Amino acid sequence: MTATEEAPLLTVSGLNVAIEGAAGTVQPVRDVSFTLAQGDSLAIVGESGSGKSMTSLAVLGLLPEQATVRAEDLRFDGAELTGLADPDWQQLRGEQLAMIFQDPLSALNPALTVGYQIAEMFRRHRGWGRSRARQAAVELMAQVGIPDPAARLRDYPHQFSGGMRQRVMIAMALALEPRLLIADEPTTALDVTVQAQILRLLRQRQRDGLALVVISHDLGVVARSARRVVVMYAGTLVESGLVAEVYPAPAHPYTAGLLAASPRARGTAGSVRPIDGQPPDISALPAGCAFHPRCPIARERCTVERPKLRVVAPGRESACHFAEEVLTGEPTKRGTGAAHG
Ligand code: SF4
Repeated sequence: MTATEEAPLLTVSGLNVAIEGAAGTVQPVRDVSFTLAQGDSLAIVGESGSGKSMTSLAVLGLLPEQATVRAEDLRFDGAELTGLADPDWQQLRGEQLAMIFQDPLSALNPALTVGYQIAEMFRRHRGWGRSRARQAAVELMAQVGIPDPAARLRDYPHQFSGGMRQRVMIAMALALEPRLLIADEPTTALDVTVQAQILRLLRQRQRDGLALVVISHDLGVVARSARRVVVMYAGTLVESGLVAEVYPAPAHPYTAGLLAASPRARGTAGSVRPIDGQPPDISALPAGCAFHPRCPIARERCTVERPKLRVVAPGRESACHFAEEVLTGEPTKRGTGAAHG
């Protein structure tokens, strides 16, 4: 049975996040749905503020108290996650779900050596003795490319460079062989050689059954680490499909714009064309399609009618009124060239 045929390990259906603030309630995540099977990989991409990190924090129960999470279905391995008590979350996050954060310092204790922190995971969750846990920590540090790991075990987090700290955090996330790993910009602080090494390690873990969610604005990282991709804009999903199908022929002008801004992600040598304008303020979204002020093919309908996410080809979804035209390039040119209005 392939990864795609299995019952999903993770089900996210109709996920909404609302946050109370001084100026009222904002909704940074609206009606987001996706599934992920064991051993499969999914990338969530979008500009900063698109809701991609917030979505993953909601899935892991890590949002602050002011946030309200609602979902039609939020399930891991058949068990409902909404309303889970704190001790159950802690157990799940310790052993089955892991996350690599953007900021490694936030995940490491500055007062304890890195070796202690990694070894402690084996001691606490596996009941291993000091020497076995220490040996496992050394092996993990070597796997993520930390030179001279036996010596560096005794160093504190502040003695590591940003890239090395990132590798320590990846080692800790993988230590207990989680079933689901959510990696938020996992390789941003790493040079190209180490990036490739980490992505290889993640792929190897996937072959052993790890389900992987990669959150990134870097479409090149996504292309190398995920099989499927969902694209987020202003808190909602605007496109989903296989990376191998979406990259050569996107079905949403925003995806086309992201790809044009990152031509190397598609393996082409074209010039970089950033998307015009800025992402909208989520507390004051434009009427109709939230992307219309930046969309090169926006028309009258786009300013009044919000497009729904719909199937536009087998295995492909897009939230654009004119997705078929974007997909085929007819009659408007994909992503560019069409007049507004
Ligand atoms: S619905 Fe209209 S504005 Fe929105 S992405 Fe499609 S063409 Fe552009």
